[in-house]
Amino acid sequence: MRALIVDKTDSGITAGIETISEDRLPTGEAGDKMVTVAVNYTTVNYKDGLCMTGGGALVRDYPHVPGIDFAGTVEASDDPRYSPGDEVVLTGWRVGEIWWGGYADKARVKGDWLVPLPKGLTQRQAMAVGTAGLTSMLSVMALEGHGLTPGGRPVLVTGASGGVGSVAVAILAKLGYEVAAVTGRPEWETYLKSLGASTIVARGDIAAPPKRPLGRETYSGAIDAVGGSMLAHALTLIQYGGSVAAVGLAGGPAIEGVTVLPFILRGVNLLGIDSVMQPREARLSAWSRIAEDLPLGLLDAMIEEKTLADVPALGTAILEGKIRGRIVVDMAK
Ligand code: NDP
Repeated sequence: MRALIVDKTDSGITAGIETISEDRLPTGEAGDKMVTVAVNYTTVNYKDGLCMTGGGALVRDYPHVPGIDFAGTVEASDDPRYSPGDEVVLTGWRVGEIWWGGYADKARVKGDWLVPLPKGLTQRQAMAVGTAGLTSMLSVMALEGHGLTPGGRPVLVTGASGGVGSVAVAILAKLGYEVAAVTGRPEWETYLKSLGASTIVARGDIAAPPKRPLGRETYSGAIDAVGGSMLAHALTLIQYGGSVAAVGLAGGPAIEGVTVLPFILRGVNLLGIDSVMQPREARLSAWSRIAEDLPLGLLDAMIEEKTLADVPALGTAILEGKIRGRIVVDMAK
């Protein structure tokens, strides 16, 4: 089978496609119910970029097969919930980081980590959603759970032309929210408006640490894929009682310039969102909300289709903030 192998050599981290024996697929530990999947589609997330370049010390053992997401067809299963021919999706659980992942013709993972292909989505569409889109939906659900409803001030989405951001804009707009999309790439303004953004906020207007601990109450809530001082700045602009879903760190992990004032004077909530270890039931409900609330025509407009051979270069590009929307890797091409 083909596999994208990442290795650590004297000259650094390398990534290249090799033909390897299926015998090298993980077998799990005693008692694990393993499922072997023929991978049909995968994608490239920010974390895949880290795993292919040695960033974040996410990969522990080399040689390694990255790929944090895949969609495919079950070939063999020890898990009674899955039979050959079933269509399945995997995101997270540290697959592609500490376990071998989806950048190969086949993957073998614990049955507990899989979900059935959500009704209403193809495997290709499920990978256009991937970890990024699942996280966008988890963020929307967290904001709703803290009282966000349509009809009020706009919802801010940062890193808007990236994967998490694009899907978040499309879902929020479909649900009837006014969306203010932050981007550092003005050339994607038409794209963001086509997804449903009503306002474009230039990255430079909100990237710096806030000058004052509280600004004007401008947004009813926010989904933040950027972190850093942009998250600090966004917190000062959230209305009384509103919430910010903190998803990512494309702009850095430290929340520079934040004070407690948005929390203690405005009751603003900072909601942490993790998609990786999200329990199965929550994943299933997020996937079914995606099938319901993400317009599939807009999802198709976000897709750039690529091959496995393209993946190493895409890993570098996503870390440099150069990818727009979502990549789908078709393993048959
Ligand atoms: P993308 O690269 O697709 O999107 C990130 C976007 O952030 C870019 O497109 C760009 O948008 C913006 N951006 C990039 N660099 C900077 C910068 N230095 N300052 C400000 N904005 C910047 O990545 P994803 O959407 O896949 O992931 C986004 C973040 O979310 C990552 O940090 C990732 O690790 C995290 N993540 C977290 C998950 C979780 O479970 N918590 C799951 C999935 C992702 P624009 O050009 O429009 O400004």
